[in-house]
Amino acid sequence: MKRIVILGSGESGTGAAILAKRNGFDVFVSDRGKIADAYKAELAAFEIDFEEGEHTESKILNASEIIKSPGIPEKSPLIKQLRAAGIPIISEIEFAYRYKGDSKIVGITGSNGKSTTTSLLYHICQVAGIDSALVGNIGYSIARQVALDPKEYYITEISSFQLDDIVDFKADIAILLNITEDHLDRYDYKFENYIASKFKIVKNQKEDDYFIYNEDDPVIVKYMKQYLPHSILLPFTMKNEVRQGAYIKDEKMLIKFKEEQWNMNVNDFTIIGKHNQSNSMAAGIAASVMNIRSDKTRDAVTTFSALEHRLQKVLTIKGVDYINDSKSTNVNSTWFALECIDKKVVLILGGVDKGNDYSILDELVEEKVKAIVCLGVDNSLIHDHFDGMVDTIVDTSNMDDCIKACYSLAEQGDVVLLSPSCASFDLFKNFEDRGEQFIAAVKGL
Ligand code: ADP
Repeated sequence: MKRIVILGSGESGTGAAILAKRNGFDVFVSDRGKIADAYKAELAAFEIDFEEGEHTESKILNASEIIKSPGIPEKSPLIKQLRAAGIPIISEIEFAYRYKGDSKIVGITGSNGKSTTTSLLYHICQVAGIDSALVGNIGYSIARQVALDPKEYYITEISSFQLDDIVDFKADIAILLNITEDHLDRYDYKFENYIASKFKIVKNQKEDDYFIYNEDDPVIVKYMKQYLPHSILLPFTMKNEVRQGAYIKDEKMLIKFKEEQWNMNVNDFTIIGKHNQSNSMAAGIAASVMNIRSDKTRDAVTTFSALEHRLQKVLTIKGVDYINDSKSTNVNSTWFALECIDKKVVLILGGVDKGNDYSILDELVEEKVKAIVCLGVDNSLIHDHFDGMVDTIVDTSNMDDCIKACYSLAEQGDVVLLSPSCASFDLFKNFEDRGEQFIAAVKGL
């Protein structure tokens, strides 16, 4: 019997294990850390053998194939050893792809906006009554969904780490939202490597598949020539009209697909900011490709609620708005957050710096930011960059002190914005924990 070993048992590893077991493989799951109790209970229920706290080589090196969780870097000693032994290593989305049957995959990737766009498209599908699931980095893993509750459409959020280990995986409809520097620590600090990973979303596409992409993104436009998608191209843009695809003109989003053309007023969108107009165009064209009627998409876009931790308004205290954008883990998302705020801002930045170039924020910081409150391990990088540009830069090392500092710096009519541009793992469990601590500290004022 073919032996499949799964490294890492988070949502994607556990989902892959269940799918492998269901398909009759000899399955073993190995996690060097602790496996969450809920996943352990599931593995036991499906009679899947597992270990935690270590990787036992003798139980792993006899695999015919490895499914690697996205969190495990290529550089880790075990992966190097497996590569040297010539054992194939794939990602969970690749494995799920083999078993999805005739169902279709919408694959959504990009540096920012994946979760928002994936959720919005899924919301459109729900309003339109399409048999679909929200999967990938958000919600259940696609492998779990395929194993336990197959659907006609998988609306899938895909990270670059998942794309790194695909072989045949193909999205029927691929969406590439943007490419800006992120996660460079996983790509030998070479932007080109990260770009190559993102473009794998089109690697296996055929002539009758669709590629929806951001024509305003200079990196995407430049590298399209190199990665030459074979699929039908559907650009979206804020800057000019397109023959097929989507664009914004005179406050209207226009969608053109085949013979159909429809539009809606961008002021009716429930999610704010230019970046969300881009996300809405991407989801809107995908919906047209899926033959969803425009009135359904319109209804959905006007009823969609913003996701937590993404430009989420928490409270107004003494005329100061407190906004939680904890999911902002790179400078680009902070740029879009500042761009759509028309007030003076006390900005909370900091955490684990993944090699940020803060200079893209300069213009907006000079125009809108009255004070920066640093929160995290890499505060000195922020000081070095913004000293002299902003009157006040304060250091803090926990959320309560940070919010107290913001409270004393902000005046009526200002905004306190948590949009840190950095990963959260120095002081928090994850970005959700950071956002929740922000909300609790604000409520405690
Ligand atoms: P992802 O899943 O790619 O991390 P999210 O939808 O969770 O994306 O949003 C992450 C952060 O990026 C949030 O701060 C959000 O406000 C911001 N954002 C959302 N869409 C875009 C976009 N198209 N371009 C830039 N920033 C965006």
